[in-house]
This record gives sequence, C-alpha cells and structure tokens, in this order.
Amino acid sequence: MSGPALYVLYRGPLTSCNYDCPYCPFAKRVDPPELLRADRAALHRFADWVAATIDRRLSILFTPWGEGLTRSWYRETITRLSHLPHVDRVAIQTNLAARTGWLADADRDTAALWTTYHPGQVGRDRFLARCRELDALGVRYSVGVVGLPAHLDEARALRALLPPHVYLWVNAADGHVYTADEEAAWTALDPRFGDSVRPHPSRGLPCHAGETAISVLGDGTVRRCHFVDGAIGNLYDGTWRAALKPRTCPNVACDCHIGYVHLKPLGLRDVYRDGLMERVVHRAEEFTRGSIYTH
Ligand code: SF4
Ligand code: SF4
Repeated sequence: MSGPALYVLYRGPLTSCNYDCPYCPFAKRVDPPELLRADRAALHRFADWVAATIDRRLSILFTPWGEGLTRSWYRETITRLSHLPHVDRVAIQTNLAARTGWLADADRDTAALWTTYHPGQVGRDRFLARCRELDALGVRYSVGVVGLPAHLDEARALRALLPPHVYLWVNAADGHVYTADEEAAWTALDPRFGDSVRPHPSRGLPCHAGETAISVLGDGTVRRCHFVDGAIGNLYDGTWRAALKPRTCPNVACDCHIGYVHLKPLGLRDVYRDGLMERVVHRAEEFTRGSIYTH
C-alpha cells in the first residue's frame, strides 16, 4: 500500500481513569455507562474509517483524556488496526496499569505504547514488571514521567532499572519554573527535556498540523491539532481531504509534545522518525548526541 502519510491523533469522549494523579483533572473520574457506550461506538466508527482509508499511510495515536487500555474496545481496536497493511503505527498513551497479554495478538511491528509512570499511583516494581512484559512480547514503548521535583529520585531509580534500549522522556510540569540546576538534573535523564521545558513560540510558523497531521474527535470533527480550536473538516463526510494544506500556527506558543513535534522549524520528525507516535527517539540520535540513555 502506498499514499501520502497522515498522522492522526484521536480522542473520544472517554474521561475516566483508574488512577488519582494529583496533577490531573481526570483523576479517578467515573464515566456513566451511556458515555462508555458512546466512546466505544465512536472508536469503532473511527476504526472503520481507518480500515477504509487505504489511499493514505496512517500513523495513529490515541490520546484519551483518561485511561483507554482498561477498556476492551481500545485493546481490540489497536489489535485490529495493527494488522492493516496501510497502517504504519497505532499507539496509545497509557498508564500501563492494565494487563499486556492482549498485545500477543497484535502486529508488534505496528502496535506501540506511550507509557507514563506515575509515582504514588503504582509501585516502581510493579511498573517495571509491566515493562518486562512488553519486552518479552517485543512491543515498542516509551516511558515517561512528569518532571515534578518530588519525582526526581524516583525517575533516576527508574532510569537505572529500565533496559538501556527503552527511552525515558520527561515532561516539564505545568506551572513549574525550572532553575538551571533542575533543568540540568532532568536533562541528565532525558536529553530532550529542553524541548519540553519552555513553550515554543509558534505564531505564524509553518506546522505540519492541518497538512499531514490531524486531530480527530469522537464525532469525526477534524481539527489541525488538539490545541487550535475550530474544525477544518469532518472525517466521516470526506471534508478532511480538501482541508489538508500547508498552514501556519495561529497560537502564540505550542507547549505540548504531541503538538510541537509537528512544528516544522523544530525538525522533530527527523528526531523521532518512525517513533513519532509513541515518543521513541530514533536510535541515530544516540550517536549524534552521545549516549542518550543514562544507565
Ligand atoms: S494516569 Fe493519566 S489520565 Fe489517569 S489520573 Fe494520572 S495523569 Fe490523569
Ligand atoms: S504549532 Fe502546535 S498549536 Fe500550533 S498548529 Fe502546530 S501543533 Fe497546533
């Protein structure tokens, strides 16, 4: 299968999570049954669109507000889409609390996980046991932490215990201003922390979002990215096709990884290459920057 590449972020109505992170508005939320049914129906509709859109090479990242992998329909959809020949990647952001055995049925050259370790919600040993399960299955994944000062020791311990091939990323904590020493400490764990620590001025700059990357909501609304409001089309009436064109960013700044990886002047697609969706730095970076993994 061939065709132009399209990166798709998908977020359905789901907002519930099994964890209770103090820095998250979706902590321990419970979705009513009707919302869960709507989320499942929306995901199935999206998956059918993916299956039918064979004139594009698709890379998909599920970015639920809450936790998706505790729901069977996310596990089944990732498995299904991973086997489609025109799907290059299907990944999801997850806290890795759910069992991983279902991935044995997925095409592990295509399915991948963006995992986040949340100290205080899960023990380090338990999280690492899940990582070992992924390694045994041959699943590609990244591991991240939120760069709160209280997490630093735990992040260092995690880095020391993770296999060297696993990329550990650090997200700058919302509202926290980092001193030079703090920034250096986190950069020692994630050499790309500098991408996260300061918002990227973006107004008027060319961005792949809305050209070769889109954000999709459960009802099929297509926006250029999660951070610029306003529909540019809909997935299910075909209007997304005419909407794709070179665009510049209307926002003052872009401060979220899933956005600024598409900001053209940053060149981050060359840094992540086929790991763009699951946030795995391309191995060539290891050689250009020295060993990026501290272990
Ligand atoms: S695991 Fe993620 S979605 Fe759940 S409470 Fe923590 S930050 Fe929020
Ligand atoms: S720079 Fe960020 S906010 Fe602006 S269009 Fe691109 S992804 Fe969206």
